[in-house]
Amino acid sequence: MGAESQNLLGSSLGDFVDRFRDWIADNRAELAPLLPARADYDARVATAKRLRGLLYDAGWGRIGWPEEFGGHGGTILHRAAMYDELFRAGWGGPVVFEHLEIVAPTLVRYADPEFTRTVLPRFLDGSQPWAQGFSEPEAGSDLASLRTRAELDGSDWVVNGAKIWTSWVGYARWCLALVRTGTAEERHRGLTMIAVDLRSPGVTAGPIRQANGTDELGQVRFDDVRVPPSRIIGDVGGGWRAAMYLLAHERGTLSWVRHCGYRENLTSASKSMSENSDRQVGEAALGLLGVRSAAINLLAREAADRELGPDSAFNKLLTTRTEQTVYNTLRDIDGTRVAIPDGSDAAAVLQQEYLFSRIVTIYGGSQQMQLMTIARHILGLENA
Ligand SMILES: Cc1cc2nc3c(=O)[nH]c(=O)nc-3n(C[C@H](O)[C@H](O)[C@H](O)COP(=O)(O)OP(=O)(O)OC[C@H]3O[C@@H](n4cnc5c(N)ncnc54)[C@H](O)[C@@H]3O)c2cc1C
Repeated sequence: MGAESQNLLGSSLGDFVDRFRDWIADNRAELAPLLPARADYDARVATAKRLRGLLYDAGWGRIGWPEEFGGHGGTILHRAAMYDELFRAGWGGPVVFEHLEIVAPTLVRYADPEFTRTVLPRFLDGSQPWAQGFSEPEAGSDLASLRTRAELDGSDWVVNGAKIWTSWVGYARWCLALVRTGTAEERHRGLTMIAVDLRSPGVTAGPIRQANGTDELGQVRFDDVRVPPSRIIGDVGGGWRAAMYLLAHERGTLSWVRHCGYRENLTSASKSMSENSDRQVGEAALGLLGVRSAAINLLAREAADRELGPDSAFNKLLTTRTEQTVYNTLRDIDGTRVAIPDGSDAAAVLQQEYLFSRIVTIYGGSQQMQLMTIARHILGLENA
């Protein structure tokens, strides 16, 4: 391990947190403009990229990722501790870099190591974000029916099809896509994961304006897009395994990042609440504690290199229901801030987040899908 990594990681997780906290305090002036979320979405993403760049240059942005791929070592516990501290310092959240916790572990586990060595540092430094292209107009919950195809032509794969609800595709350089390389009858056994450079000829991406006014979501078309074989992630025909690994992170360990964000909103609003709100705030706070404990379990499992398994479905259900409880509480207690923002960035972002909390039970697999996973794989109800 290099001297810089050792210097940042310290002697224990607690020591590491102290060092990161000190760094935040020492660099307040430079960090201050990069922490609060901007109401304008383009500006928010641009700021998130600059913050990633700053963290990367200072070495923190490489902590928690393997040294062989450009990281500084450490585990997801280090990353989780940094998210916690940044949110406590007033951060509005990672925006497109939520995908670091979803896409990057999948690259580390399944991609060609040489490819990961090339792309991961550019992801960590904020210059080349990734999108995740699974859902299609006719394939959301029933992902195994997806129709985007990749066919071999010489040594290249040629991709044709369309993806929808692709978060941050308009801001990303790469798309981790799930495509069909086998027959439709093979269902999930005929799928392959592939990394598509969104600057390739034949790629057309466009935004889908959300009800909260942001352009997070998008759609993307692939028309005869050529992809070299080194960008197959895992095995040809082995896409389902890699996709389930990715989704376990989106449903499981990501809950840590998301709960830190809405925890801060509840904490700051609770300072000016009347005693009449105690019960509702108490329920939201209890939910938050539940999410935090469940997430810590999964983080520890990931840090020990153990599978996250179906428990990630439980985390997804818990975190999204709690996110709605928290924003419902903010709405009920001081509705005007949510309904009629006062013109400040903070109020506009709060309104966006309230509206976004209406749809969190859908991404990463709908609430019904999580309930079915819990019924079948945790409760053992075979016919659920
Ligand atoms: C904010 C957000 C971000 C997203 N980001 C991405 C992304 O980055 N990449 C990506 O690939 N996708 C993304 N998605 C898409 C998301 O994964 C899909 O919307 C989701 O899987 C549901 O698929 P669908 O929209 O096709 O709905 P459908 O599958 O058509 O489902 C419609 C309704 O029917 C229910 N239903 C369907 N089948 C069953 C069943 N067998 N039993 C019981 N109920 C059922 C569902 O629960 C749902 O309520 C995102 C979605 C949202 C809202």
